Amino acid sequence: MQRTIRLQLQPDNQASQALSQTIEQYTWSFNAVCEYGWENNLANGVELHKATYYEHRAITNLPSQLVCAARVKGTEALKSAKVLKKKGASVNCPVSKHCPIRYDARSYTIWFDRQEVTILAIGGRIKLSFEVTEHYRQYLIWKNTSADLICDRKGRWWLHIVMETDTPKADPTTQVVGVDLGIATPAVDSNRNKYGSDHWKQVEDRTFELRRRLQSKGTKSAKRHLKKLSGRQKRFRKDCDHVLSKLLVQSVESGATLVFEDLTNIRGRAKMKRATRRRLHGWGFAQFQAFVTYKAEAKGVKIGFVDPRYTSQKCSQCGHIERGNRPTQSEFRCKKCGFECHADYNASINIRDDFLKLRASVNAPIVSADNFG
Ligand SMILES: [Zn+2]
Repeated sequence: MQRTIRLQLQPDNQASQALSQTIEQYTWSFNAVCEYGWENNLANGVELHKATYYEHRAITNLPSQLVCAARVKGTEALKSAKVLKKKGASVNCPVSKHCPIRYDARSYTIWFDRQEVTILAIGGRIKLSFEVTEHYRQYLIWKNTSADLICDRKGRWWLHIVMETDTPKADPTTQVVGVDLGIATPAVDSNRNKYGSDHWKQVEDRTFELRRRLQSKGTKSAKRHLKKLSGRQKRFRKDCDHVLSKLLVQSVESGATLVFEDLTNIRGRAKMKRATRRRLHGWGFAQFQAFVTYKAEAKGVKIGFVDPRYTSQKCSQCGHIERGNRPTQSEFRCKKCGFECHADYNASINIRDDFLKLRASVNAPIVSADNFG
């Protein structure tokens, strides 16, 4: 499995200048490869190399490896443009303003213990120091693979390094837990455990109200405020999704399966309406699913998904499906057998049992975490 760590580099003026020049010429080389390939309808690496390498070595000061890296990147861009074109999309020749430089094992060397890296640039290798934030320290014992050099809009230099390690292999155990994601309670599992805080709903409701008020004002300052608010809401939801996914993965043994409703690929307005009702004010599921998937992968936990239809209206005891089984948001009372319990808990049992039925049927579709890379 892979994770990307982001290191902020601390170049002095001279190094910073060399990096700027390198990225400028690298970008030029990338664009020139794309332009040549586009005009000559070429997306073959060898052909593009033959056509551009010597010219680019002569025109730029880039070392050979970086000319090749720019061509590889250009070839990739041309290939994906070709694929899009085949699908009928209108595509233009790929072009970049600041093309991140892709380094491989031969063009950069890193020492995490000394917090030092050398990267290839115009005029040879440059030695740079960096800082590692607390969160990324856990990945430093993994193996580093490729790295991208990026200059952000504020002029800061970053190295994004892809770290790699073996995915833990855990034999599937019999522990299968259904999880219902909800509103008042962020998550309830089929063992009656609750996860997340009631406080989240309060924060969301407050944000929702404030947003409505600002939107109706429509002034310049209201718009500025709205923008800030949406950034804050995004960060809040991200934190919550991190916390919730962590708690859920921690709650099971390695080899267990956590099952959710598949709420990210819902088509049709009625279903969509129901799905968004399940979480507050359009708080999506995609981010949560991504978080839970990669946390599960690291622990050897499997993730399963079931069709969300009827999971909240179906009686988990007798199977009777009726909208009236759910008199309020939080209550479940079966019209047929009289079974009563908390609606989210009833749903989580259905989610677990639907998955077990699915798995028992011919093509046991366990969705393993690595399908979501
Ligand atoms: Zn029933």
